[in-house]
Amino acid sequence: MKRIVIIGAGVAGINAATKLVDNGYPGELITIIDKGNDPINRLPEEVMTGMLGAGGWSDGKLTYHTAIGGQLSKYCGEDKAMKLMKQVVDNFTRFHPKPDEIFMSDPQEEPEFIKPYFGLRMFPVWHIGSNFLHEIAKAWYQYLLDKGVTFEWNTEVDDIDFSDNRIYTHNTELKYDILIFAVGKSGIDFAQRLSDEYTFPTEPKSVQIGIRFEAPQKYFQKLIDVSYDFKLYQKFDKVSLRSFCTNNNAAYVAVEETYGDISYNGHAKKGKEFENQMTNFGILMEIKGIEDPFKWSRDVVQKLQFTSDDFHSGLYYSPNYERQVSKTSEGTDVKAAQLENLDLFKEAMGEYATYITNFIDDMNKVFNFGDDWGMYIPEVKYLSPEPLVNYHDLSLNQFPNVHFVGDALSARGITVSGAHGVYVAESLVK
Ligand SMILES: Cc1cc2nc3c(=O)[nH]c(=O)nc-3n(C[C@H](O)[C@H](O)[C@H](O)COP(=O)(O)OP(=O)(O)OC[C@H]3O[C@@H](n4cnc5c(N)ncnc54)[C@H](O)[C@@H]3O)c2cc1C
Repeated sequence: MKRIVIIGAGVAGINAATKLVDNGYPGELITIIDKGNDPINRLPEEVMTGMLGAGGWSDGKLTYHTAIGGQLSKYCGEDKAMKLMKQVVDNFTRFHPKPDEIFMSDPQEEPEFIKPYFGLRMFPVWHIGSNFLHEIAKAWYQYLLDKGVTFEWNTEVDDIDFSDNRIYTHNTELKYDILIFAVGKSGIDFAQRLSDEYTFPTEPKSVQIGIRFEAPQKYFQKLIDVSYDFKLYQKFDKVSLRSFCTNNNAAYVAVEETYGDISYNGHAKKGKEFENQMTNFGILMEIKGIEDPFKWSRDVVQKLQFTSDDFHSGLYYSPNYERQVSKTSEGTDVKAAQLENLDLFKEAMGEYATYITNFIDDMNKVFNFGDDWGMYIPEVKYLSPEPLVNYHDLSLNQFPNVHFVGDALSARGITVSGAHGVYVAESLVK
């Protein structure tokens, strides 16, 4: 049997390892390397790196629809995609200390009141609850340890020789027979470097960029009652917009750092002590026809930064100047520089800024929040060039023993990332 090395103990890597050992693959032949911490030492504020990766550590909304969370069904078809995602949900349930407390929403009908302005995408969502995720991570980790899997924590892989099946960290090198490349968003620059170096053929991508909107939950309650993690959308010729990753009740805005730039995301906590009666969600545009979408979105994000001697952040705007940034779940202010107007935003986004402001205006017609709202600028989903893979096992065309999974391939969510991992593991145990 072959030695499998997994780079990244995030959602994709961990689900891959789990599927392998569940199917009898010897854990002793699996090594998982991660630049972050194990679940015992990982701090809540280490949002992007460590056991269970990004959203698997700090959010945990498991969406169940093939049009949400990136590419899956294009590789394996609709039916298989649904089955793979369900296995990821089952894994989170299996290691949950209180599985009965998992809350599931499953809206069935689009409400009349949004129809003049928006469509509503409907699909089931399991809400694991961020404060259970750490316990899940610990139980899941222990399971894999018991199965003999080796973990290398706080170890960053900085180079890979795909021709010689060898990976390098700052002080060591390791041979693999099979490599699962699962570095997620925090490894996007590394993935990009490898892609450039090896000139991987890629699939064309669109741009996904926007803002994180925040307002008191009361305004959105009538929609939350229908769909807890609602996804509103609007479609135009070149641009489609959707609300993304909605958080309610105990809703916090999270700061993300990619390529040294600050952008925003959100997460929800469970537990009375965290309740703040706020709602936040991304408003993301998918823009078609931009020549080099990756470079374009990086340039826009760079223009939307605030930098002084001792402060580097993204931006915050509210039409009500009294409204300030919210607190994080750790009780500090969300790091963002307050804008007096949207001039900078409009300058950076060009013609596309209007799509976002119109979306907010249309929401105001439906939900009547007046000027009682704010937005964190920017939120971005970098769709780095997606390497061309063999669809049956997500392996690189040039290197069939190297499998790309999760956000490093084409995912943008927990269930799809985990499903990539399961899919690859299934192909390996066959
Ligand atoms: C704050 C936040 C909230 C989110 N909430 C949700 C949500 O509720 N629902 C949802 O569906 N999606 C959510 N997402 C997105 C979701 O987390 C990702 O799509 C998913 O985690 C991707 O899984 P992955 O395994 O590909 O990468 P990740 O989970 O990001 O894991 C990648 C791992 O690789 C490691 N790594 C990176 N580079 C290297 C390297 N060079 N060497 C060694 N290790 C490396 C990192 O330390 C990390 O642990 C959220 C994301 C964020 C940031």
